[in-house]
Amino acid sequence: MQAEIITIGDELLIGQTIDTNSTWMGEQLNSIGIRVHRATSIADDRKEILNILHEALLRSELILVTGGLGPTKDDITKKTLCEFFETDLIMHQPSVERITALFKDKGLPILEMNLLQAEVPRSCKVLNNSRGTASGMWFEKNGKVLVFMPGVPYEMMGIMEEEVLPEVQSFFKRPEIVHHTILTQGVGETFLAEQIKDWEDSLSSEELKLAYLPSPGMVKLRLSAYGGGEKNALEEKIFRKKKELEGLIGEHIFGYDKETLASVVGKLLLERNATLCVAESCTGGFVSHLITCTPGSSDYFVGGVIAYTNSIKDHQLGVSSALLDSEGAVNDETARQMAAGARDRLNTSYAISTTGIAGPSGGTKENPVGTVWIGISGPNRTFAYRFQFGRNRERNILIASHTALNLLRKEIIGQNV
Ligand code: AMP
Ligand code: MG
Repeated sequence: MQAEIITIGDELLIGQTIDTNSTWMGEQLNSIGIRVHRATSIADDRKEILNILHEALLRSELILVTGGLGPTKDDITKKTLCEFFETDLIMHQPSVERITALFKDKGLPILEMNLLQAEVPRSCKVLNNSRGTASGMWFEKNGKVLVFMPGVPYEMMGIMEEEVLPEVQSFFKRPEIVHHTILTQGVGETFLAEQIKDWEDSLSSEELKLAYLPSPGMVKLRLSAYGGGEKNALEEKIFRKKKELEGLIGEHIFGYDKETLASVVGKLLLERNATLCVAESCTGGFVSHLITCTPGSSDYFVGGVIAYTNSIKDHQLGVSSALLDSEGAVNDETARQMAAGARDRLNTSYAISTTGIAGPSGGTKENPVGTVWIGISGPNRTFAYRFQFGRNRERNILIASHTALNLLRKEIIGQNV
């Protein structure tokens, strides 16, 4: 079957809002075995909406649409739907009650415009929005399904999870699909491709697919098994190939599926009853940000020092001022003293430090832009490694932070040489 996604909103076309809805919906559909073959963004424009719905119905069995359901004049989707489905708007009483209760809970006065949100085209099935005012709408036409949801990502996600995905699964018969994602850090995709080329060649005879998903400093390898068998058989097949892959590139793998470097590090620390702090210079707090994005991080992360200037490195972390004066801040010894100083003063099992030149300016001949020293101090030793990243400031901060977490991960499990 063919599924497609349509996102409606002028803001998506003028660079004001990034269309994250398509990405998320695509992932969700894919995870239940439905492949999306097209995603389109269009303007809040009657003609555009009518045209794309007409075209989509010719080529797709499932059409998911977001946007344009707000109460303001620019949101015209609902009115246009009535025209398309040759129906009219009716007041949906359960929605009136839900919206009234929502405003009462928040202690806000309810405006007539808010109640207009409870109007829906007569011929649709209403999908409950537990997170906002605009309901979702489910239409069926010639055995095909069209679903309309508000553009606000948080609301759309609620409707998808609670209403659309279960409903879609029972409406369409789907082939099984199983994905497993293997997460690597520190090596590029071409390097990986070279290392696993024979293994990759063997996938087609097993009806498996591999996708390389690179992001700064990381490559995700997604292994997929489609259809043609029981879910258990597909799982077993993927598991076997994953084991083979681990034998080839195990040292670069830090986790699987929804894990992050920070969540993996957090788990390792928890298992050991260990704690962590940071001393961040060039990453400016980004390592802490990544760590604290993991729920429950307060069980092992105590805090840190954003030691951006030399005087903070000296006064708050105890880095030798003579060293800073003679050698500057971007060197092995400073990174080690930062990590050791933080670990000592914040009294943790482990500490991470970063010091480098994020760019675009500030590079020297010995330390060009992208030079970053990452230090680790732990129960066994304190050490630092030098890394040479690129010229882009944002990417350098991102890659340095992930690299730092991976260095700590390897130290905890004894993988560093
Ligand atoms: P709407 O349902 O059109 O009133 O959209 C409400 C808000 O949701 C917009 O102002 C955007 O900030 C956001 N939004 C709409 N469509 C998308 C989309 N495709 N991806 C991410 N955010 C969106
Ligand atoms: Mg809109």
